[in-house]
Amino acid sequence: MEYNHPVLIDKYDRHLNYLRISVTDRCNLRCIYCRPDGSLPKLRHDDILSYEEIYRLTEIAVGLGINKVRLTGGEPLVRKGITEFISRVSSLHGLRELSLTTNGIYLKDNLEKIRSAGIKRINISLDTLDREKYVKITGYDGFDLVWEGIELARQMGFHPIKINMVPIKGLNDDEIYEFARMTFKYPYHVRFIELMPLGAVKFDIRTNFLPNTLIKARISELGRLEPVSRSGFDGPAERFKYNGALGEIGFISPLTEHFCRICNRLRLTSEGHLRVCLLSDHEEDLKGPMRGGASDDDLRRIFLSAVSNKPKGHNLDSKESLLGQMSEIGG
Ligand code: SAM
Repeated sequence: MEYNHPVLIDKYDRHLNYLRISVTDRCNLRCIYCRPDGSLPKLRHDDILSYEEIYRLTEIAVGLGINKVRLTGGEPLVRKGITEFISRVSSLHGLRELSLTTNGIYLKDNLEKIRSAGIKRINISLDTLDREKYVKITGYDGFDLVWEGIELARQMGFHPIKINMVPIKGLNDDEIYEFARMTFKYPYHVRFIELMPLGAVKFDIRTNFLPNTLIKARISELGRLEPVSRSGFDGPAERFKYNGALGEIGFISPLTEHFCRICNRLRLTSEGHLRVCLLSDHEEDLKGPMRGGASDDDLRRIFLSAVSNKPKGHNLDSKESLLGQMSEIGG
């Protein structure tokens, strides 16, 4: 059966063209606000989707009008065979953009393969520029590795290179200026992401939350932030640039901005569930039906039904918390 693009339109007339895929729940870091030690049992190998299964669902999704895919995790680069899988996905007809979100620990060693596999756009999560603080936040002495990976990616011509930073009160908020200043010297897109109340973290989100309005006000002391016009492929980031800077600043504010009305995203979790809103625990199972012999048409119907149930918006504020784990959902 042939579907015309776009097919995934919800009842609020949002066209869903962006699929984020968590290829594994496993991660080589233990970030204190994501999955600190002991907070999360690993899924069994059989519980997560095989590459073959992810590929099949991605192909179906692309047939339904998804033209932008991001591979995330857990940490995508810890999964064996990931670069071969990227190559396969990147050749899917109808896909216009394929990108990767990584913590950067294994980036340097994989950049050649990632580039040959067809990825040009990389997001790297980095919450501090201080080596000791990096250990405190992630549980691993990996700052140098990540920074070398970012530098090499730039030299190799990856663009844009987005650096995602989650400001947390009293932990790394003193570094927001240094992150912002980085955009004068380097062509990186630094994006400040609001801390979200997800997962069973032993971390008080409410008292450590910083709204992006505050971050923006503070870093505006360094210079006037000029808005950057949005392109059709932009996500929810509000984009700005300092006069004369090489890079950009972005703000992703799921809690204070409620950009739900322009949300174009679907998420495929590592366990094979389709999640239509990051900040709502409702998910539709794709793995069960797929392993039970569902046809492609049956699976398409699950996509369409999930999309028809996409909520108008999330009702979450920084006081509540969800059960879903970022590492399974993919952020
Ligand atoms: N391992 C990869 C990485 O570190 O980029 C991909 C997965 S990670 C779950 C994706 C993003 O989610 C990271 O940028 C991380 O900072 C962000 N994240 C995790 N937990 C979060 C939370 N509670 N609030 C805001 N962002 C969070």
